[in-house]
Amino acid sequence: MTEGAVDALIERMLAGDRRALARLITRVENRDTDLPRLMQGIHGHTGRAYTVGITGPPGAGKSTLGDRLIAALRRDGASVAVIAVDPTSPFTGGAVLGDRIRMQAHTLDPDVFIRSMATRGNLGGLARATADVQKLLDAFGFAWVLIETVGVGQTELDIVRLADTTVVVLVPESGDAIQTMKAGLLEVADVFVVNKADREGALRLVAELRHMVHLHRESQQASRDLDWEVPILTTQAVHDAGVAELLAAVRGHRAALEASGALARRRQARRARELRALILAELRREVDRALGAGGPLEAMLADVEAGRVDAHTAIRAIVDRLRFPETAR
Ligand code: GDP
Repeated sequence: MTEGAVDALIERMLAGDRRALARLITRVENRDTDLPRLMQGIHGHTGRAYTVGITGPPGAGKSTLGDRLIAALRRDGASVAVIAVDPTSPFTGGAVLGDRIRMQAHTLDPDVFIRSMATRGNLGGLARATADVQKLLDAFGFAWVLIETVGVGQTELDIVRLADTTVVVLVPESGDAIQTMKAGLLEVADVFVVNKADREGALRLVAELRHMVHLHRESQQASRDLDWEVPILTTQAVHDAGVAELLAAVRGHRAALEASGALARRRQARRARELRALILAELRREVDRALGAGGPLEAMLADVEAGRVDAHTAIRAIVDRLRFPETAR
């Protein structure tokens, strides 16, 4: 696509054209060569949307809950975009995944936009694409962006770090599962939800989480940037019970972030993280090129492979060639 065509598409998108938005999202997913121009073009229009991450094990009720949250936000008149991210499924060309059909009740609503994203084998790439799609939705003018993940793997935790407020959804059955993923979940959770509270064991899990949150809070005392007590709520998404309280908790967290200045600090840290990730991805590609067939370091790699040169000697020579001039020792 020519630069002019990209600019025209951006202009249409900013004027509220959803088809233009969908086409731009596809370009972002494809990591198109015009990505830098695209991102530069929308940059001045970003920073207004509020992003909520919803994560938790498969089957916990995240998409049902997401659907209820959309409805609650729509009742308040707010526009909502949803990015449903699935690192476990191959790329499906932006089609709505089977298990996201629940949210299709909203697909005719012009103030709701739902997009599924899946991996094409590069999980880091998925996280970066999600960050860029979030910016597109923000620039388009959605007041809220929900980022929903399928599970609680490392990629998914990285993805929910894009959110301003992260909701971790668990169910009474996840008692054992949380033991193994405890640290990561506690670190990202701004709000805990025990969904399927109609089932046995919900109150036990609430008590367990309360204890874990308390211990975590004590251990983080010095490094916390916000005085926020992580609420532990119970919901029954299928019966729309507890959803208003969940939304109130999200709004409460938002208000606390805004009042304390922590929102600006978190977003600043996020932009720095994004830049770091982009640099590392770029360097990785550079290294692959340098070591690949015909690359300047191909011979060095062959020497190491054959055992003629040890890896530590090789790495010095390689890094010296890659090092930025101003940081060279
Ligand atoms: P996700 O994989 O986390 O997105 O979970 P889903 O939203 O697809 O829900 C998984 C299943 O749990 C579906 O069959 C839902 O109908 C069911 N479910 C969701 N919320 C509740 C609830 O509060 N109680 C019960 N009993 N089932 C629920």
